[in-house]
Amino acid sequence: MFIKESANTSPIIDNVFSTVALCKQDNDPSKLNGTIGSLYDENGQLVALDSFFNHYKELPAKDYASYAAGFAGNPDFNEAMKQWVLEDKITECYISTVTTVGGSGAVSITLSTMLDKGQTILLPRLAWESYELMSQQNQFEIVTYDNFKNDQFNVDDFLAKAKQIMTKQHRLLALINDPAHNPSGYSMSLTQWEEIINGLNELSSLGPVCLLNDIAYIDYSYNLNSSRDYMKLFNKINPNVAIVVAASLSKTATSYGLRLGSAITLSKDKAVLDEIELSFKKYCRINWSNPNNSAMVNFTWLSNNNKQAFLNEKQSYIDILKKRSSLFLSQAKESELPTYPYVEGFFITIKCKDNDQRNQLFDLCVKNHIYICKVDCGLRVAICSIPTSKLDGLAPRIANLYKQCQ
Ligand code: PLP
Repeated sequence: MFIKESANTSPIIDNVFSTVALCKQDNDPSKLNGTIGSLYDENGQLVALDSFFNHYKELPAKDYASYAAGFAGNPDFNEAMKQWVLEDKITECYISTVTTVGGSGAVSITLSTMLDKGQTILLPRLAWESYELMSQQNQFEIVTYDNFKNDQFNVDDFLAKAKQIMTKQHRLLALINDPAHNPSGYSMSLTQWEEIINGLNELSSLGPVCLLNDIAYIDYSYNLNSSRDYMKLFNKINPNVAIVVAASLSKTATSYGLRLGSAITLSKDKAVLDEIELSFKKYCRINWSNPNNSAMVNFTWLSNNNKQAFLNEKQSYIDILKKRSSLFLSQAKESELPTYPYVEGFFITIKCKDNDQRNQLFDLCVKNHIYICKVDCGLRVAICSIPTSKLDGLAPRIANLYKQCQ
């Protein structure tokens, strides 16, 4: 082999990009593109929020030209992100904020920091595909937990799998993508979060426990005022537990291409926090050196000077998401199309009994010019990018095809 022996040479399986490519080849005027995971307006145009971008366009050239203040980002941006994400919820932990290249960067440096090659990570079974690829690149073993039991977060399976790993490995890295999980749109209850934190605290007697909470879609929660309430429970972590909150400004500020995110770490033990922060900074340094300065400058300005206008503008799109999701879900219900439990967010996922049924349904959808993405035992409908007028009637169309796949 030309590249290193240990390299993972299996092809990248990216169900989103491969379905996007299929969709591009289809010239049928009635085709329905439900693949794109970015926010689009009711005219089918990508949303770029004015309250963020108008000011961004006017920044002095030196803000674009300049490096960031350090590997971990600009201190005022880190302060702004800490406040944006945690608000005043964390009063009993030490906090470190490191700027990353997108939410992807935050997830990636956490994986690299917390486990060695050959160790086991705990991931959700129904999940954003990149977690698996990042784990493979780190040469981790993967154990998955079932996301749901009776349409509720499966706390029992999460904790059982966590215990299995802990007893063998005496170290745990577990990932929860919540609220507005990709691809189901599920959000956990406070009680479920409490059970998770209590369970992880118990397990931490066996070794260090890191919970990675990927909050990529939090700022499109349907009830923003309570979207961070669960974080109060993080105050109760034991000293042998750390939580990394991975935030994505790609979603929050509709700035996917600016590549900005944050890894916000919480710990009761200052020495643990410092250890994690030092490792994060080193991974930032070796992977991307430093993050996008102008994007940080602009978001810092926004959070200090234009927050309310931004929240108002963003709310108008949350309202559109609400409209789209309730239309799709009510029509799915009427036409008996099963979906995973949706609460809020960019995606709704059609539930299949296994991946054979999913593949059959996917092929039938493609034949009928409907492009939605394969996920584990399901097909993901990106309601974030489908105008309401096009979404109307989609669920019954898919339901008809679904009936042929039993
Ligand atoms: N986490 C989830 C669940 C996502 O769906 C995404 C993007 O699609 C990300 C994190 C990271 O996004 P980005 O790196 O663009 O900020």
